[in-house]
Amino acid sequence: MNKLDIKLYPDEILRTRCKPTEMSDEIATLIDDMLYTMYEAPGIGLAAPQVGRDVRVIVADVSEDKSQPIALVNPEIIATDGEIVYEEGCLSLPGIYAQVRRPAKVKIRGLNRDGQPVELEAEDLLAVCLQHEIDHLNGVLFIDHLSTLKRNRLLHKYRKEQL
Ligand code: ZN
Repeated sequence: MNKLDIKLYPDEILRTRCKPTEMSDEIATLIDDMLYTMYEAPGIGLAAPQVGRDVRVIVADVSEDKSQPIALVNPEIIATDGEIVYEEGCLSLPGIYAQVRRPAKVKIRGLNRDGQPVELEAEDLLAVCLQHEIDHLNGVLFIDHLSTLKRNRLLHKYRKEQL
């Protein structure tokens, strides 16, 4: 398995709306590499544009012991419920964190690593994580959910830390 380079903000691939993706051996390999890269980082989720790929692939694992990897191709949120505020960060924006409000429960449809259609329900941290990763496929970052004032303040801090 290969550790992939994580693209950092403001790399423009992070603002790309990724293309619908057909399952292939290459995508299965990408999934394996993305999971490896996520665990090594360490992080709880990763989306393909974060490793420079314009495809609709996400991986996540919010378990304590890294025992519950999830990989989804072409994930789509088909239902949401409730509300949760959670402190989010992002491997592409190291060093900054913010409280983000999102639905607390989601139902998601997509393809698994074998190319089979799957539907999964997630709540709390896993729901937050999957929504954050699906946002990436649409060129959306967690800072986009904040007020302009908060976002600018965080980006100012980020730029200072990146120097
Ligand atoms: Zn992220």
